[in-house]
Amino acid sequence: MYTGRFAPTPSGPLHLGSLSTAIGSFLRARSQKGKWLLRIEDLDRQRCSREASDSILKTLEIYGLEYDGCVIYQSRQVEKYREIIRSLQFRNLVYKCSCSRKRIKALGGIYDGRCRNTVHQENQNFSVRFRNPGTVLSFDDIARGHIETPAAESGEDFVLLRSDGTVAYNLAVVADDETEGVTEIVRGADLIPVTTRQLNLISVLGYRTPVYMHLPLILSGTDLKYSKQNHAKPVNESDPSLMCATAMKCLGLILPPDLCCAPPREQLSWGIKNFRIDGIPRNNQTVSY
Ligand SMILES: [Zn+2]
Repeated sequence: MYTGRFAPTPSGPLHLGSLSTAIGSFLRARSQKGKWLLRIEDLDRQRCSREASDSILKTLEIYGLEYDGCVIYQSRQVEKYREIIRSLQFRNLVYKCSCSRKRIKALGGIYDGRCRNTVHQENQNFSVRFRNPGTVLSFDDIARGHIETPAAESGEDFVLLRSDGTVAYNLAVVADDETEGVTEIVRGADLIPVTTRQLNLISVLGYRTPVYMHLPLILSGTDLKYSKQNHAKPVNESDPSLMCATAMKCLGLILPPDLCCAPPREQLSWGIKNFRIDGIPRNNQTVSY
């Protein structure tokens, strides 16, 4: 059965960009008569709050974005991720790295594998990295076609466990999509660059390979990604019908005039019937509101 999901990070309320991603994945799942799950990616305690995740749940309710089953909180399944790291450790597929943030920044952000064969002292501060085989260099996106990623990025020995003990996003997302039986991942285009490295991890863990569909990013007039970082307005403080219509327009869905001011629930049921992959724009969408 088709199983999709929406997986926001609760570092603030939903903004237009994340609402558009929620709507895109919801419409796709419902148009396939599939399940749509909700996962709160709240592993980073510095950035995430209960207040923000509650605000996201409230916004989804206001927009009629009803998910199946219970909400999954990543912060409650840390032991599962640690178990996967242990299994990789057993297979010699991870290693400890004590390189500083500064050093990696100086390398241009892509780690060079310096610690691959280094033995560390037990009391040293280290992160745990994936010994990435780097065999997957490309994937087929159902909305955008064949996408290749530079070998250095696809095959980077990325971090699975940070030095402060936080499980990294790239591990948790791969583990959860497998255990929740997600068949298709619909998410923002900002995650295209990490897809091949996630696929390398999926391959090593022997997980099923999901289908990917990346949605356009929504930019403000000043050409920035709509996010908390550049103070995008939270959507639950705005006109829900207008916001929903705007988010749908960014997905190539132009509502008929009589539905422009209708409750989001009605707009979405029109969207389920009219959702088309080939109607989704490939380029970023600039919106002012
Ligand atoms: Zn290192």
